[in-house]
Amino acid sequence: MLDPRSIIFILAALSLLMSFVLFAMPASIRERIGGARHWSLAMLVLAGASSLYGLRGIIPDLLSMTVANIASLASVAMIYSGSRAFFGLRPRNGLLALGLISACLIMTLCTYVVDLFSVRVAIFSLVSGFLLLLYGLDVTRLRPRQAGRTSFPYLFTAVTVFFDVLVSGLRIINAISFPATGSEFLAPTPINILYFSTHSLLAICISVGFILMLNERLHAMLEHQLSHDALTNAYSRTMLIDMSQRALTADRGPVSLLLLDIDHFKQVNDTLGHQAGDAVLRHVVDTLSSSLRPDEPLGRYGGEEFILLLRDTTASQALLVAERLRAQVANTPYKHGDEARPITLSIGCATANPGENLEQLLHRADAALYRAKRAGRNLVAQG
Ligand code: GH3
Ligand code: MG
Ligand code: MG
Repeated sequence: MLDPRSIIFILAALSLLMSFVLFAMPASIRERIGGARHWSLAMLVLAGASSLYGLRGIIPDLLSMTVANIASLASVAMIYSGSRAFFGLRPRNGLLALGLISACLIMTLCTYVVDLFSVRVAIFSLVSGFLLLLYGLDVTRLRPRQAGRTSFPYLFTAVTVFFDVLVSGLRIINAISFPATGSEFLAPTPINILYFSTHSLLAICISVGFILMLNERLHAMLEHQLSHDALTNAYSRTMLIDMSQRALTADRGPVSLLLLDIDHFKQVNDTLGHQAGDAVLRHVVDTLSSSLRPDEPLGRYGGEEFILLLRDTTASQALLVAERLRAQVANTPYKHGDEARPITLSIGCATANPGENLEQLLHRADAALYRAKRAGRNLVAQG
């Protein structure tokens, strides 16, 4: 059976390893995803704190008790700060500093003024358990859900964090119910072995949770970049073509496509500048998106041309949608400083005939768009 000192050294070694793993992430990712830096540092500090605890009786008590406790609480605070950064929440540095300083003062008083080991243990477990509880609540509240299901990394993190909160709670009850002395800190009693092994295992599980969540976030970011246009956040051309191909082969009701082209867009660039041109592209996508459902994907086909996929939509329904979108953009001018500049679209619609492929459908939509342009712009035409 492992004794508490060996368990603590194993925890120190594993924490150091986890810190390296987190630190080894490319800098570009660490900069883009909040939390990675805090978590890496938290595991490094935890490795240091655990090593100091493990040297209890060999090095001065000031290091193995006071400094180790402060470092250990600081590592939990860094875990919490990391989660605030990861979820894009405001940091709570002032509140954290106040809580940590108060806890450290009380623990120091209970070491050097009166030697109250159990009070120290209770205060330590209370503060670290409370911070972990806040972390667990943030993970539960802000977890991304895919099709109503919680993704595994967040479920894993929440379960391990709440389990550690429970362990902290039990340790408080144990410290109050059975007051002990500092000399029993590393004594190989069943309760100590149970506490140190569970707590160490959970600390490592929590850091594995960081890696799983960071990995999933990175995956989602890359997937978004591949499937979306960077300027407008509409779907990318490849993604929309892929969706349209699938809709055509799915054989679930008529498939309609709209090709939408901004009228005289070149003039916007020429008169207001290229940056204003970019802002107009975003303005048009935002205006269109505000009245589209999630199952009506809009993609950037190229330049100032967009494509809208309407599944299970007949030709007459597609015409109504096109007319509604045209009117909406025409009635929502782009605000450039004090100037309200009207922006209009020409739209070509086409509804797939049986056996028609995407290329043929796009060709008909494009021909309809050309007719709308020829007929004077700010118009809808059907192909
Ligand atoms: P029409 O009414 O016939 O569609 O005229 P138009 O001026 O909209 O069309 P044209 O094809 O002559 O010009 C499109 C312009 O769009 C030319 C190109 O410089 C500009 N453009 C393409 N992509 C971007 C972009 O990402 N940002 C900006 N600002 N301009 C772009
Ligand atoms: Mg145009
Ligand atoms: Mg064009």
